[in-house]
Amino acid sequence: MAQITFVCPFCGHYNTRSHDGLYAPRYAVCDACGERFIYEPGLERVNTFKPGEAPCCSDPDCRELEMMAHCEQ
Ligand SMILES: [Zn+2]
Repeated sequence: MAQITFVCPFCGHYNTRSHDGLYAPRYAVCDACGERFIYEPGLERVNTFKPGEAPCCSDPDCRELEMMAHCEQ
């Protein structure tokens, strides 16, 4: 499985995770500071956001709510 590396938005530590190849945003817990944040794999680079600062389409929680809302329509 491929791996991706991204920088913690809290402390700047480089975290490496196995990557399933999907571009959906998901949560990570920093190896260094233990803070939880969002990372979103992209074609060129990985975007990272602090919880609450991500745009809705890049927030795993918000994304689920949106998709549920769309399904009901
Ligand atoms: Zn950190």
